[in-house]
Amino acid sequence: MKGTPSRGRHSRHVVHIVCRRCGHKSYNIRKKRCSYCGYPDPKWRKYSWSRVGGRARSILITDSTR
Ligand SMILES: [Zn+2]
Repeated sequence: MKGTPSRGRHSRHVVHIVCRRCGHKSYNIRKKRCSYCGYPDPKWRKYSWSRVGGRARSILITDSTR
């Protein structure tokens, strides 16, 4: 146990469960949406800092081959 015990309220409610698509515990039950990948949205949430897209790298590779 870490931190103040009086913060029991925090773990009372399960809001995020394991997402089927990305496997992160980010699927919000109340919003019915994954905060990590955006499930059930058809497209993934993409950020430059995340490797979810993985696009910039492949572009670099294809560019160097030609
Ligand atoms: Zn997800």
